[in-house]
Amino acid sequence: MLTRFAPSPTGYLHIGNARTALICSIVARKAGGKFMLRIDDTDLERSKAEYEEAIKEDLKWLSLEWDSFARQSERLARYEGVKQQMIASGRLYPCFETQEELEIRRKMQLTRGLPPVYDRAALKLTQEQIEANIAAGKKPHYRFKMAHKDIIWDDGIRGHTKFNGAHISDPIVIRETGAYTYMLPSTVDDADFKVTNVVRGEDHVSNTATQIQMFEAMGATVPNFMHLALIKGKEGKISKREGGFDIRSLRAEGIEPMAICSFLARVGTSDAIEARPDLNTLTQEFDAAKFSRSPATYDPLEIERLNAKIVHEMPYATIKNRVQVDEAFWNAVRSNLNKVEEANEWWKICNEEVKPTVDDFTRQAASLLPPEPWDSSTWNQWVEAVKAATGRKGKELFMPLRLALTGMEHGPELKDMLPLIGRERVLKRLN
Ligand code: GLU
Repeated sequence: MLTRFAPSPTGYLHIGNARTALICSIVARKAGGKFMLRIDDTDLERSKAEYEEAIKEDLKWLSLEWDSFARQSERLARYEGVKQQMIASGRLYPCFETQEELEIRRKMQLTRGLPPVYDRAALKLTQEQIEANIAAGKKPHYRFKMAHKDIIWDDGIRGHTKFNGAHISDPIVIRETGAYTYMLPSTVDDADFKVTNVVRGEDHVSNTATQIQMFEAMGATVPNFMHLALIKGKEGKISKREGGFDIRSLRAEGIEPMAICSFLARVGTSDAIEARPDLNTLTQEFDAAKFSRSPATYDPLEIERLNAKIVHEMPYATIKNRVQVDEAFWNAVRSNLNKVEEANEWWKICNEEVKPTVDDFTRQAASLLPPEPWDSSTWNQWVEAVKAATGRKGKELFMPLRLALTGMEHGPELKDMLPLIGRERVLKRLN
């Protein structure tokens, strides 16, 4: 089995395409197959090398390593060969309509209640007319001629799927600039690299109908298809432009790769979304039959929740280069953290100078501190004693203690902090 993830390098990897990459990788690994990364950069204006680099970096960060790689801009000669073959066999034909002309025709079709399918006017051009157009300086664009018959496949998620070729406009595959649109190069590559399973978003379902005819026109084997229902934001469609869904912004916020992968492997399936330790586990537990056909919802809070669970279990060795705390300290605080880097804040509060606010109350509280050794029950013992001696309770009691001990109004639980700060420092801060 060979799957491929085929991003266009026109933006950063976002939650939607990271999910496609993850599922492609899992489907391949589960079957003992391979996973390919293909960069779809035939749109030279919008494609940027820096996005390709960023996508690769984000995939590696997610541990979605690829076994093979291809870049479409390096395969133009091959596409040109297929173009010539398809022109010769009558499946590609030149057209000269302008955008405006097409738009007017489309509007007329819609007013007459007709489907806005390209009317194939260009197919009626004679060889002389085509040559005259070119001689007059007009540049042709090319369309793929759909066969007007049923196109049927058994989709890995959608099941029996059927389109009628007559209802699909002959797609433009080469623009007047000579640039290839996504449609044909993708098919040529899937055929040449012998991709067996195409896993992608549901927004490509109608492209699949067209591409199945392209595979057939090339005499190539048609791969299996699996279309994932889209993943939506709470307020609608996830788009690259919207921002906030980028893998790199999640990473900058301190989200762990396995929180993202745990979420993305399960969202939109009948399995519960749970924190899983690694991709192998997700792969073993994966079952494509559990995917729903209705859209899944992206929930950043769920990712935060998974993140905390993952952080609580993280061994020191895996994070030691990311924090400035020692192993004993990490083991003591990790179950209170939501993000790995928070350990540094705890360390500062416990070990560095803070600006405590002291008054008679904190000095009185200092005199009531229990003797060492301290543990997580010390705080309650102490607070009970302070309550009894001063009559204070609630915020009136806790806030002055927090300000004295940490110099801050908010922060980690004091019952966990107290033993880490230690009696000597606590005494100093209260006085
Ligand atoms: N470059 C296409 C995209 O990003 C690939 C779609 C496909 O997987 O065929 O949408």
